Amino acid sequence: MMAGRWRAAGVLALFWVCMVFAGCGRQEPVRQTVLVMDTVATLTATGPEAEAAVSEGVTRLRELEAMASPAGADSDLVKLAAAAGNGQWVKLHSEVYHMLAVSQAYSERSGGAWDVTAGPLVELWGIGTERARVPSAAEIAAARAKVGWQKLELLPQTQSARLMEAGMCLDLGGIAKGYALDEVRRIYAQHGIKDGLINLGASSLYAVGRNDKGQPWRIGIRDPRAEDKDTRLAVVPLGDAALSTSGDYERYFEQDGVRYHHIIDPRTGAPAQNAAMSATIVVAGSCADAGMLSDLLTTTVFVLGPEQGQAFLEDLPDEVQGMLCDKQYKLWAAHDFLDGLQDLQINR
Ligand code: ADP
Ligand code: MG
Repeated sequence: MMAGRWRAAGVLALFWVCMVFAGCGRQEPVRQTVLVMDTVATLTATGPEAEAAVSEGVTRLRELEAMASPAGADSDLVKLAAAAGNGQWVKLHSEVYHMLAVSQAYSERSGGAWDVTAGPLVELWGIGTERARVPSAAEIAAARAKVGWQKLELLPQTQSARLMEAGMCLDLGGIAKGYALDEVRRIYAQHGIKDGLINLGASSLYAVGRNDKGQPWRIGIRDPRAEDKDTRLAVVPLGDAALSTSGDYERYFEQDGVRYHHIIDPRTGAPAQNAAMSATIVVAGSCADAGMLSDLLTTTVFVLGPEQGQAFLEDLPDEVQGMLCDKQYKLWAAHDFLDGLQDLQINR
């Protein structure tokens, strides 16, 4: 009788020990998908505080969306556009101020290929909307007169900005998701997340640590001309780094054999017409603003085109790697980016 009771207690104890070990070993990633900043974003994290990290990450994405969107009561962009040309400084959220400060540095460095004041041109072309059309030369000239990064002034002391001409407006579509990556990554770090993936619509991602197989995250780069959007040009193994891709296949329409896409060359006032089909940039997590840089640099390199884009990347620190894929599928890479690629589908 006594022995039977001990045996039962032993079995019960063993059961609990097994349960605890199973619980510890499980480490199922927490994953949440939301529609935010015009994209389907998926946040994945593993670790004891994964639930909190993911839910705070989603909240942060919504906050950033509100302050940097082209519409809405709390949007700094709306306030700046409303005050454009009247000389008044507009106090900005520190997040938006930081985006603009970094943005201006890269406008100067790229000779205006990157320019967040391209808003009136983005609006005029309306690529990706139902009103997309080829505007007249006069319309383009009129919009271009309201574009120019030198006409965006920043005041660091008060984190304010002003637009120097009436009709100017900013567009943060090429940088806000990248900034959001850095913010979610910071939240992950606060919660001790060692493995996770911050995926903002696949065009901008930040990989933390490893995937659930203990391997580097494998990020597919899309073939810019494949009908099936899952057809890959190559795979980038990624750990503790940001990756962005911009291409002429994301939002575009075709007319008379010309592809009009959403990456505008502010210097011509039209979608960039050079040999580029896509640009992919990886920035090591050791760099400040890694996500934001990866995002803005894809647009910049695309506008600059193959030769200039490659030279531009070569001039940046080694922590910035990347490539431009041209219309012949020639890859213009910088800082040994091609050496890290896997499953490359084309001849180098
Ligand atoms: P997404 O990943 O959403 O496709 P990208 O990172 O490719 O966005 O950036 C393209 C977006 O950036 C455009 O939709 C527009 O909002 C903005 N944009 C277009 N041309 C420029 C430019 N030359 N400089 C700065 N922003 C631009
Ligand atoms: Mg971008």
